[in-house]
Amino acid sequence: MQQLISRLLSPPGRRFLYSNGREREPEPSESDHPLVGEQISFTRAPSITPREDGRCLAVFTSGGDAQGMNSALRAVVRMAIFSGVRVFAVREGYKGLVEGGKHIEEFRWASVSNILHKGGTVVGTARCKEFREREGRLKAAENLVQRGINNLVVIGGDGSLTGANLFKKEWEGLLAELEEAGRLTRSQVEKCKYLNIVGLVGSIDNDMCGTDMTIGTDSALHRIIEAVDCLTSTAASHQRSFVLEVMGRHCGYLALMAGIAGCADAVFIPERPPNPGWEDSMCYQIAQCRDAGRRHSLVIVSEGAVDSENRPITSEQIRDILQAKLGHDTRITVLGHVQRGGKPSAYDRIISARMGAAAVITLLNAEGEIPPKMIGVQGNVIMQLPLMDCVTKTRAIDTAMKTCEFKQALELRGRSFKRNMELLRRLESCRNPECGSEEDILSPTPVRRFKFAIMNVGAPAAGMNSCNRACIRLLLYKGHTVLGVGNGFSGLLDDDITEMSWDSVTNWAAEGGSNLGTNRIKPTAHTLPEIAAKFGEHHIEGLLIVGGFEAYHSLIILEENRKLYTAFRIPLLGVAATISNNVPGTEYSLGCDTALNTIVSSCDILRQSAQGNRKRVFVVETMGGYCGYLATMAALAGGADAAYIFEEKFTISDIQRDADYLVGKFKDGLERGLLLRNEKCNENFTTTFITELLSEQGKGVFICRDSLLGHLQQGDAPTPYDRILGVQYAAHTVDFLQKHAQENLNSRDKVRAENAESACMIGLQGTKFQAIPLQKLAKDTDFEHRIPTHQWWMSLRPLIAIFAKHKEHDFRGETR
Ligand code: ADP
Repeated sequence: MQQLISRLLSPPGRRFLYSNGREREPEPSESDHPLVGEQISFTRAPSITPREDGRCLAVFTSGGDAQGMNSALRAVVRMAIFSGVRVFAVREGYKGLVEGGKHIEEFRWASVSNILHKGGTVVGTARCKEFREREGRLKAAENLVQRGINNLVVIGGDGSLTGANLFKKEWEGLLAELEEAGRLTRSQVEKCKYLNIVGLVGSIDNDMCGTDMTIGTDSALHRIIEAVDCLTSTAASHQRSFVLEVMGRHCGYLALMAGIAGCADAVFIPERPPNPGWEDSMCYQIAQCRDAGRRHSLVIVSEGAVDSENRPITSEQIRDILQAKLGHDTRITVLGHVQRGGKPSAYDRIISARMGAAAVITLLNAEGEIPPKMIGVQGNVIMQLPLMDCVTKTRAIDTAMKTCEFKQALELRGRSFKRNMELLRRLESCRNPECGSEEDILSPTPVRRFKFAIMNVGAPAAGMNSCNRACIRLLLYKGHTVLGVGNGFSGLLDDDITEMSWDSVTNWAAEGGSNLGTNRIKPTAHTLPEIAAKFGEHHIEGLLIVGGFEAYHSLIILEENRKLYTAFRIPLLGVAATISNNVPGTEYSLGCDTALNTIVSSCDILRQSAQGNRKRVFVVETMGGYCGYLATMAALAGGADAAYIFEEKFTISDIQRDADYLVGKFKDGLERGLLLRNEKCNENFTTTFITELLSEQGKGVFICRDSLLGHLQQGDAPTPYDRILGVQYAAHTVDFLQKHAQENLNSRDKVRAENAESACMIGLQGTKFQAIPLQKLAKDTDFEHRIPTHQWWMSLRPLIAIFAKHKEHDFRGETR
C-alpha cells in the first residue's frame, strides 16, 4: 500500500513535479492571487505515508448546493478508503453534525457508487441555526470525538467555511468542556486533541477569493448558456429583446462570463455599477446593433446589480426602458434555481475529483495540527491555500460592495476579473473604437495600425468561432485591418479572402465548427512560393492560425521558411483548436471541453440504459488520434473502470485483469462497468477485441457492448468553457500580434520578424497564458504520433485507478 501511494502522490510544496519527473518552479498566477498557495499534484513522485494510525475523517456538504459536490464527495471517500483511513459522511451539513446519530454514517466504497452524474448533493445540505451557537458546536464536537473523527472536509460556501474555522478555533475549549461534563473520556479527548480542516468551495456564484473556479460554476454557466441559445433563436425570429436575470448574489461572475460566452448586448453586474444616465447609453448601444442588422437583443442582469448610487437595477426596469425608449417587444426570463440544477458538467466533475483527492492528501500529509486549508484551482493547478485569508478577502469584497466602494471591490476581485470586464466591454456591441477605456488593462494602443490575417487549419472544433470573432473584434477595436482567410491555405491560394467587419462576426460565439471555413492542407515545398506571393499581394503583416495539429505544423513550416521568403517574416501565431487536445503549447485546446461533455453525456446515457437488472459493461471508443486525453478525462468524469490509451503501455494481461476485476465487482453486487478506449491505443487490441474478450470472460455475469461515438464527439454548440477560452486566447493573440509587429518594424516601416519569439503558440500552461516559441515546442513534439512528449493530464491517471478500486497490483503506470 505504502509503495503504491508513494507512486501516486507528491507532497504539497512550493515545488511540484510533473509526471515525467521534471521539476518546475511555480509560476505567478494569471489571475494574480495575492493569496499564497501551495501547489498539489498527483504524480508518481515518492512522498506520502499511508495512515494506518486509526485516523478518521468526516466529509459533508453545507450551505447552497452545487453541481459537482457529489464528485467531490466520491473522491474524498474513495481516496480516504484507498489510503487506509476510515471515512464518515455527515448528512444534511452542520445539522447532521449537531444531531449526530444516523446522520453520521461510515461510508464504504459502494456508498458513493452511481452518483457522479447527479446534480446537487446526495448527502443533503442544510442551513443550520444551532451550529451558529456554541451549544450546537459543542454537540457537534461530541458527535465527532465519539467516533474518533478529528479531520473534516467541508464542501460549502464562505459561510460554511467560516463556521468550520470557528469550530476549529474553539475545538480545544469545546473538548475540555465536554470532558469536564463527563460527556467525553480523557482518552477520547487525547486521541482527537486537535481538529484539522480542509475546505472545498461549493458555490455556483464563483465568489470565493483564492480560487479561479468554485465547484458548480461551470455547470451553472452551462444552464445559462443553454438558456441564452434558446432565447436567441426565438428572440431573433420575432425581433424581440430579452432580459435574462442570473444568480450570483454580490458576485457578477456568472453574468459577466455569460455575457462573454453568450454575446450579450449589455451586462449589468454589481462590480460595474453604471453612472446615472446608463439607460440612454444602453439604448444607444442596442439601437446601433439593431441598425447593423442584429435581429434580437440580449441584456444579462445579475441578481445583485446596482447603479453607482447603490440602487438596484432590476430586470423589470430594463424591460420597461427598452419598451419605452426603443419600442422593443421585450421579455424577461429569470433563470432562478434552474442554474443550480441538472447534471454537473465534465469540468465540474473533474475539478471536484481533483480537489477532493487533494483535500485527503492535505489531511494525510498533516503531521499533527495544521492551520485550516482551502483547496482551490488557479489556472489548471490545484492549490492549497490558507482558508481564512481567502474567506477574509471574500468578506472584504462584500463589505466594500455594501459601502459602495466599488473600485475597492473590483481590486479585490483581482486582475483577471477586471480583464474579463474589459473584454466584455470591448466585445459587447461597443462598435466605436474611439469610445476608449478608462483603464487600458488589455493591449496597449499601437503606434501604427497593421494588417493581420486569420485562418483556420485542421478539422473544425467548437470554440474556433468564438476565438475568431473575438480576435477580429479586438483587432478592429485597436484600429487594425483583419483579413479573414476562408478554407485554410487552399482558400488563401484561391483568394478566398475577405476584409472582416465588426458585424460580419455577429453571434459567431454560439456556433460550432468554423464559419471562416477550415482545411487540413499544410503548406508544401510546392505551394510555399505561391503562399508567400499571396502574403505579399495582400500585405499581410501578421498571421493567426486557429486549428489543430496541422495548424501547428503549418506554422512551423512557415517559420522554417522565413529565410527563403520575406513574406513569412511576420508575427506567426497559433491557437490550438481540436477536440483531441494534442497540440503542444497548451494544456487545453479549443473544442476539447465540448467533446468531453458530449462523451461524458453519452456515457451517462449508456449507464442509464443498463439501469434495472441489465448487467452491462460498455467499451466506449473515443477519438483523439494517438492522444489519450479524451479517454482519460472521460474516464475520470464518467467514473470508468479503466481507460486504455496509447501513452500508457498495456498488455493482454492488463485487459485480462480488468475483466477479472469487473467480474468480481459484479459478483459484489455492482451492476455496471465502463471502459474507455482511445481509438489508437493499440492496433491489435481493438474495441471489438476488448469487447469480445470481456464478453467471454463475463459469460453468465455480465454482457459487454461496444459503443463508437465517432464524429458525434465534435459536439453540438460550444460549451461555455470553450467559448470563454476562445475569447481569452483572442485577447492574448491581439497583444502578441501587435507587440511583435511593432517591435519588428524596420527603418522602411516594413514588418521583418525573424526571431524565434515572434513565431509562437499561445496556450494555458499551469497557472497562466503564455506564448511559447514554435522552435522550443518542436523539440518536445512526437511528430510521428502527433502528440506532445509531455502531457500534463497523465498525472491524473492514477486517480482513475484509485476511484475504480483497483488493487495495488492492478495499477499500471508505465509510460512509453
Ligand atoms: P454558504 O456556505 O453557501 O455560504 P451559509 O452562509 O448559509 O451558506 O452557511 C451554511 C451554514 O454554515 C449555516 O447554516 C451555518 O450552520 C454555518 N455557518 C455559516 N456561518 C457561520 C458562522 N459565522 N459561525 C458558525 N456557523 C456558520
